[in-house]
Amino acid sequence: MPRPIRATFDLDALRANLALTRAKVGRARIWAVVKANAYGHGLLRAARALEQADGFALLDLDDAVRLREAGFRHPILLLEGCFEPGDLAVAAEYGLTPVVHCLPQIEMLELSGLPVRLPVHLKLNTGMNRLGFALNEFAPALERLQRCTAVGTITLMTHFAEAETAGVKEPLQVFEAAASGIDAPRTLANSAAILRYPQTHADWVRPGIMLYGCSPLPDQSAEAIGLRPVMTLSSEIIAVQTLQPGEGTGYGRLFKAESPTRVGVVACGYADGYPRHAPTGTPVLVAGRRTRLLGRVSMDMLAVDLTDIPEAGIGTPVTLWGEGLSADEVAAAAGTVSYELLCALAPRVPQVEKN
Ligand SMILES: *Cc1c(COP(=O)(O)O)cnc(C)c1O
Repeated sequence: MPRPIRATFDLDALRANLALTRAKVGRARIWAVVKANAYGHGLLRAARALEQADGFALLDLDDAVRLREAGFRHPILLLEGCFEPGDLAVAAEYGLTPVVHCLPQIEMLELSGLPVRLPVHLKLNTGMNRLGFALNEFAPALERLQRCTAVGTITLMTHFAEAETAGVKEPLQVFEAAASGIDAPRTLANSAAILRYPQTHADWVRPGIMLYGCSPLPDQSAEAIGLRPVMTLSSEIIAVQTLQPGEGTGYGRLFKAESPTRVGVVACGYADGYPRHAPTGTPVLVAGRRTRLLGRVSMDMLAVDLTDIPEAGIGTPVTLWGEGLSADEVAAAAGTVSYELLCALAPRVPQVEKN
């Protein structure tokens, strides 16, 4: 029998989160962001549940080809664009939409001699300072693309650095300065901007994390937004220890009992994708009741406090995150974000679909 750990994917929740996104963005079309193996949910599995989206956005050319070969006819956006000339031929063959964020990518298009016109997304840097043309480089870049025989529809794009915190005022001004007077579709909003700034919805939105049922906003829970968790990481208690005051558990005995403490050992560790840096106190559900992580997370196991859950023993179900305990909360306790937890789900964890 395999270890009791598993990741369960609630595909109804994925569809419901897409529908909620649709309700929030009105007539804007939706690029469902499925990069990083659909945030750890499985690319093809997620794409099937998200087939009502208007397009898929990801990074890897190979993943785009996998979607095409699985029969998806949606537009597919390559969020970092093409890396070498050969990629353009593949993009043309499979009907992909590359982002163009730097001059070498424009040169590649000009020299490509492609027999078709590729739709592209021209990216403006509005303060993230990661990808994209600066404001003063944008118009010349756009003119070159408009003259290029390998380029079809051009969509104007930016990505916000602080939509979940400081806001979008300044980047929006920069974007308006670059885009005003240009008759082209526009895409700006990630999940945080979708939820917080309707004025950024434009022609296409690009939700990622909200589709997977987590909140992009530090001050609003996924539940309050109406999002449903898609991935649930669960396992079972496989051993029980009773600590006397002064005794510890796990490597380094980081947790030391001050009073008699009943400890459950759970079959889940950092090799399954649970964050090793999660401290004592990180929430865990045992038999549906909230308790806390104790001491250091090991490769294959972690310890939880069963002192107030006397009915729990070997075989009792444990939820690490998902239904009943948001990955956002676990991530916050561990000093990270739900994105990282979801993406880190290890391939060794058996996967189950429901709905
Ligand atoms: C990842 C990504 C998104 C989605 O971001 P979320 O915060 O997950 O909604 C949107 N746009 C771009 C360019 C991205 O890289």
